[in-house]
Amino acid sequence: MQAPDLVALRPSDDELAQTARLLIRLRWAAGLSILLLTTVARWGLGIELPAKALLALGVVVLGYNAALVAEARRSGRPAATARRTLWGQIALDWLAMVALVHFTGGITSPALIYFVIHVALAGTLLPPRGARGLALLAALIVAALAGLEASGALPHIALPDLGLGGDLHRRGVPALAALFFFSTTALTVAELVARQARRLRQREASIRALNEARAAFTRAATHELRAPVASGLALVRSIEHGYLDELTPSQAVIIERVGVRLDGLRELIDDLLDFAASREASVAHPPLEAVDLGAVLADAIERERLLADARNIAVQTPPRTPIMVRAVDTGLSMIFSNLINNAIKYTPDGGIVTIGHAVEHEAAQVTVTVQDTGIGIPAADLPRIFDEFFRASNAKRSKIVGTGIGLAAVRAMIEHYHGSIALDSVEGEGTCVTVRLPFNRQR
Ligand code: ATP
Ligand code: MG
Repeated sequence: MQAPDLVALRPSDDELAQTARLLIRLRWAAGLSILLLTTVARWGLGIELPAKALLALGVVVLGYNAALVAEARRSGRPAATARRTLWGQIALDWLAMVALVHFTGGITSPALIYFVIHVALAGTLLPPRGARGLALLAALIVAALAGLEASGALPHIALPDLGLGGDLHRRGVPALAALFFFSTTALTVAELVARQARRLRQREASIRALNEARAAFTRAATHELRAPVASGLALVRSIEHGYLDELTPSQAVIIERVGVRLDGLRELIDDLLDFAASREASVAHPPLEAVDLGAVLADAIERERLLADARNIAVQTPPRTPIMVRAVDTGLSMIFSNLINNAIKYTPDGGIVTIGHAVEHEAAQVTVTVQDTGIGIPAADLPRIFDEFFRASNAKRSKIVGTGIGLAAVRAMIEHYHGSIALDSVEGEGTCVTVRLPFNRQR
């Protein structure tokens, strides 16, 4: 197997967007805490501290956090914004940290420990060398701050009311000891976090490569199988239709059976191909794009209608309107072909299949329902209905052919599109499948 490449070891867009969201929440909490604690300490408890400077710091932190939130909303692509502004965010946070430490006692500040949180956060995003670099930078910043305060270049702010009125910053050995413990903690945390993050990413990359190889194999194998089966089927059909000569009744029965078996095999191969495609899609992450669900639905209904007509099943369709969702054309088509095919396949002759859609503007999503008056699914089988290769007991007892792959592939694909699927069914009465997909928000 191929070694996971270096690009795969960088944080994914999802991971970056998650960290960016966490940073935003932490910053709201930090900014508000600074404002609240300073107010309570200064005016509630009468503690002497540089209240104005600390309040200004709180406002600045909340201010640039609000600007970052606005920017992410404006661009509509939080991950891309996070990647672009990551270093800027780190720099701003560190400046805020330095100010907080300075205004709360320099090297004696209890806020010093917060630097370690920042180093740990950076460690989740950076390779170990980068994380070590940041930890060292933190140590240097604190040392510089201590040096400046010791030399008098920067005023030392003592907080005697908090027991931080000593002159540690001017006493060499204790200050060096404090610095030593601070730097070693920061470096160790950086190293541990960055190594673990890298190991997790390596593991993820190899799982991805393995799945991709498996999907590629299934695809290649099924492609190779499809051609001979299709030509075998065509030959059998031509014999059936008297291309060679009139068949004796017993020959006709056997040829028909061969045809049915080959048909089943062809269906199985198609299912396997769909399945491989759904796996590949969830592994290789093809870019999602704006797709007109209304058009895909109309095409899928048209394709499956032949099957329904042959069995006198009425297909009731929704009015055709453009509904833009974020998906991939072929995947979306596979989803609805499978669901409509199931509804027709598991409905006795003369039944009704109803397809509908509803746009929910508030939830920014569209709901598609595929409902039938078919054989339904026994309640005991419902919990496993989306499992690969699972078929309900009544379906297995019937003559209806199937492999139980369709719904598993459909669900994998829908989840890849950040949607959801639900299935309600009563045995002997019918089934209703509900698919929810988010709108395409990008212009
Ligand atoms: P295939 O892989 O060819 O689609 P399948 O239709 O048997 O085979 P799925 O589509 O995964 O497999 O469906 C799984 C099972 O769920 C079916 O075997 C059947 O028991 C049940 N099922 C799915 N849709 C319906 C439906 N509309 N009505 C009744 N049973 C259904
Ligand atoms: Mg099916």
